Amino acid sequence: MTSPKVETRLSTSEPVKKETFGNLAPWSEPAWYSSLASPYYNKSHKRLRDAIRSYYDDNVLPYSLDWEEKGDAPLEARLKYARSGFTFADVPAKYRPADIPGPAGIPVAQLDIFHLMIMTDEGARVEGGVGTALAGASVIGAPPIIYHGTEEQKQKWLPGLFTFETSFSLGITEPSGGSDVANIQTTAKKTSDGKFYVVNGYKKWITGTPWATHMTTAVRTGGDGMKGISVIVIPVNAKGFSWKRIPNSGQKAGGASFVELDDCLVPAENLIGKENEGFRIIMTNFNKERFIMSIACNRKARTCLSTSLSYAHNRHTFGKPLIANQIISSKLATLARYVESHWAWLEQIAYHIQQSPLGWQDPEIAGQIALSKVHGGRILEMANREAQQVLGGAGYQKGGPGASIEQMSRDLRMMVVGGGSEEIIADLAVRQETALAKKRGWKL
Ligand SMILES: Cc1cc2nc3c(=O)[nH]c(=O)nc-3n(C[C@H](O)[C@H](O)[C@H](O)COP(=O)(O)OP(=O)(O)OC[C@H]3O[C@@H](n4cnc5c(N)ncnc54)[C@H](O)[C@@H]3O)c2cc1C
Repeated sequence: MTSPKVETRLSTSEPVKKETFGNLAPWSEPAWYSSLASPYYNKSHKRLRDAIRSYYDDNVLPYSLDWEEKGDAPLEARLKYARSGFTFADVPAKYRPADIPGPAGIPVAQLDIFHLMIMTDEGARVEGGVGTALAGASVIGAPPIIYHGTEEQKQKWLPGLFTFETSFSLGITEPSGGSDVANIQTTAKKTSDGKFYVVNGYKKWITGTPWATHMTTAVRTGGDGMKGISVIVIPVNAKGFSWKRIPNSGQKAGGASFVELDDCLVPAENLIGKENEGFRIIMTNFNKERFIMSIACNRKARTCLSTSLSYAHNRHTFGKPLIANQIISSKLATLARYVESHWAWLEQIAYHIQQSPLGWQDPEIAGQIALSKVHGGRILEMANREAQQVLGGAGYQKGGPGASIEQMSRDLRMMVVGGGSEEIIADLAVRQETALAKKRGWKL
């Protein structure tokens, strides 16, 4: 019997040199950087990636842990960052200074969700709350204005982001609870002439407050529950607005603060959208916030994997490198499985959002995004734990090869609890997916 003929195709052209980028150690960058082919990224994405990588490497990473320790970044670093175009990318061109067209010179109208993934992923290489010290919390505080504000509000507030003349925090959580948004207790009552709201209440853990000029705030203007909630933008210099930083385990440069609103007088024209229709604004804002957090969890877990992989090669115990022990390489393989598959899921969600005419408002995505954030948080917890084990004492030390890992161990709770805590959004995912399945015809 003759064996079947195997055809070998030989290309006559020169072999294409495969592009590589960044850290070439296994799993240390998203697969599309140097290993697997991907349908999602083009030249524009690469251009953005290259530019943002060198910006952070040159301007932020050498100083970031120092800034985190101080709880602030120097003014010139903040102004440079605001003008870099790597932040506030969702602010449309007409509200941007003419000389800041977009990140890496890419006009913002040409940015897609994969550009957002790159900016978020690369930004998450910076530990602590330094991203907030550099840009304020406008990444979560400005979108209600961008997507639901009037033309006048956008003209008034958005251009100032690039000079720090405006900076928006997002005030939802209260001392009585953050999960049950429909039951917030801060009230906003109209004055008899209808010109102002008088706001009373407390907000807790409000990121970016030290740099904020305004707090985009969830308030109760109507009756109980979600139908009585509005969103108003409160200037921090309004009479009756006071705040102080909350000492948390990590994220010091995130500036999470306690805010008191004591008969705070806010112009009625600072209402975003319609009165008592704020709950929907808050909830749709969460889709993007959670997606961003999910991406950040992935990169931070990748940093744990990458740092411990490199350490395991260099560190010798009992006469051989740590990596030579299967119990150590097994930890790394486990992390790689989780990090890579989570990233692939994020890319698929991104692709869906990009294709959907409804974009971030698409009803299919809230549950998927919520669950991907839960998963990202779990992966990050596991990756940080395993990295600390591989690094031993060095993973517990401030400074040295494990400095980022140690910092992350104090920061990561915020990634799991903030933007919707795990228990709440896992439950939301189950309810959303069940409802969607029934709509598609699933019968119990
Ligand atoms: C560093 C930091 C920064 C933050 N930044 C901001 C910000 O900028 N703006 C803002 O508005 N908020 C912010 N938060 C608040 C954050 O969003 C809330 O902490 C979060 O929503 C949870 O609210 P809570 O802490 O009041 O917990 P609670 O709502 O009191 O819940 C406590 C725990 O119980 C769980 N739980 C609650 N109800 C249930 C239930 N029915 N079933 C099962 N489990 C349940 C929750 O998952 C949570 O883990 C920040 C928090 C931190 C720590």
